[in-house]
Amino acid sequence: MISRPFLTIVLSMLYMLSLNAQIRVEPPSWWTGMKHPKLQLMVHGANISVTTPQIDYQGVQIESVVKAESPNYLFVNLLITDEAKAGTFKIEFKNKKKTIASYDYILNERVSDPSLYQGFDNSDVIYLLMPDRFANGDPNNDDMVGMLEKADRSNSLGRHGGDIKGIIDHLDYLEELGVTVIWINPLLENNMPKQSYHGYAITDYYKVDPRFGTNEDYKNLVKKAHEKGLKIIMDMVANHAGTEYYWNDDLPMKDWYNQWDEFTRSNYRGITQADPYASEYDYEKMVKGWFDMSMADLNQHNEFMAEFLIQNTIWWIEYLGLDGIRQDTYPYPYKDFMADWMKRILLEYPDYNVVGEVWLDYPSMVAYWLDNKTNHDGYRSYLTNVFDFPLMYALNRAFNEQDGWDKGTLALYEILAQDFLYSNPMNVVVMTDNHDGDRLFTKMQEDIRKFKMGMVFTMTVRGIPQIYYGGEILMAGKEHDGHGHIREDFPGGWPGDEANAFTKEGRTPGQQEAFAFTRRLLQWRKTNEVVQYGEFTQYIPENGVYVYFRHNDDASVMVMFNNTEENREVDFSRFSDNLEGYKKGRSILTRRLVENFDKLVIPAKSPMIVELMK
Ligand code: CA
Repeated sequence: MISRPFLTIVLSMLYMLSLNAQIRVEPPSWWTGMKHPKLQLMVHGANISVTTPQIDYQGVQIESVVKAESPNYLFVNLLITDEAKAGTFKIEFKNKKKTIASYDYILNERVSDPSLYQGFDNSDVIYLLMPDRFANGDPNNDDMVGMLEKADRSNSLGRHGGDIKGIIDHLDYLEELGVTVIWINPLLENNMPKQSYHGYAITDYYKVDPRFGTNEDYKNLVKKAHEKGLKIIMDMVANHAGTEYYWNDDLPMKDWYNQWDEFTRSNYRGITQADPYASEYDYEKMVKGWFDMSMADLNQHNEFMAEFLIQNTIWWIEYLGLDGIRQDTYPYPYKDFMADWMKRILLEYPDYNVVGEVWLDYPSMVAYWLDNKTNHDGYRSYLTNVFDFPLMYALNRAFNEQDGWDKGTLALYEILAQDFLYSNPMNVVVMTDNHDGDRLFTKMQEDIRKFKMGMVFTMTVRGIPQIYYGGEILMAGKEHDGHGHIREDFPGGWPGDEANAFTKEGRTPGQQEAFAFTRRLLQWRKTNEVVQYGEFTQYIPENGVYVYFRHNDDASVMVMFNNTEENREVDFSRFSDNLEGYKKGRSILTRRLVENFDKLVIPAKSPMIVELMK
């Protein structure tokens, strides 16, 4: 027999739980000691707008409460003063004197630890991986209750089961390879009915997709990576969200999304944001058009949406101890919003790095988005890093063409010659390939000699190098065949895989050659300051040979590419300015001493790196 008072307590506890279950408060927690003292809570719950929130906690004040168009939302503006201490406070949502709902809000103490929020720089090499396709560390989470799409490894556009545990399990491998930063395609929930594997249709900005793991797992990944000296870049998406988001059928305000009478796709012409002659029609379509039917275009000119996105970014950085951000589709949201977003990140983390996906063809177009004070229209982005798409396009051509007046390695030379357009060309991220295009080995026509030239170029040119998972073991794939083909499973990442390319024994001779070459290059780069930070001097390609130097007052590295099908004898007299004071060198790739500085033979279709010695 259960006593009545006990039953009452149990029932009232259940009632409270059900109340809490009914409301959603975001951000779900926050920190004391933030530079920006304000916090805007977005509260969602049935008819929550009839309530008045109350907080009784030292240092935390409700400044204002704003109702939305939908009765199911409230925005609560808080001021968190210096007097606020870490702890938990209750937010009571009252209607007259009755508490309709309550929420235990956690304020954590902000941690100041130099091993967190590290940013990235020229000493780093970034490894991009797609978590669904890298390694399946936990087959039990491949299918999860409540998730619309089930795992299907036979479907190249389906979910394959890769997860956070798979990444943690292979941190040793990445350390051995010599990369220093892992950029992971989005890990947040994508509860979409199909093609949810790529992660760019987020359906919960505060939750890791359960098929990848939990928020705690993500945090643990960052911790484990930091223990190995590896950093983590989170892939964020401010432009659009998945149409299966809980708010999709009950938007706080109609203008939460950029709305059109009928579905209107973006024209994908990022240049319209900088074009002095752009028509309003084209600009509007670029910025307000939807990226895809399944990806709703978020309206960052709605101040609540803007604050939601900004706080979400700060929340993840602080929660995870995150080192950097890659922001998707950078020229698609309103550019004034993106500048505000950047400013808020830099306010809290002054040395932070964000690399923007400015996928445009010319250096001038990309340079507009890298922070500078000289844009023609006065726009200042505050963006610290951009990807060098123009240089990647040049790389795609250079080693596949015979050098000529306007062919071959001249493509590289001419793109680099336009670096005067960038406020700081060292801040560009140079990539071999990424998840949206042909893989490096495919672009190099599956010729390992050209693959090596591409790798050496990427690792020794100015900027911050980035490679794409599996490139180091010659994974191939053409974008034209479908995105699944450039995002295949890493062999050995799944239990029962025929071969395990994470281990030497599991690699084919070709894979091992590429892996060993890449590892040698990366491990050398890791310890070589001049190739990381040194000045860059290039010589016009001559006779099919392209030469440049990375140098400072103390050291110099000479990089050569023979882009012909014959062994070439290179006459060094042209480079005397850069060779002055150096008597010999060490070839990094062959480990041989170079003692004759007059003439040197470079084998056909080969790179050569010579570390100069006094
Ligand atoms: Ca799994």
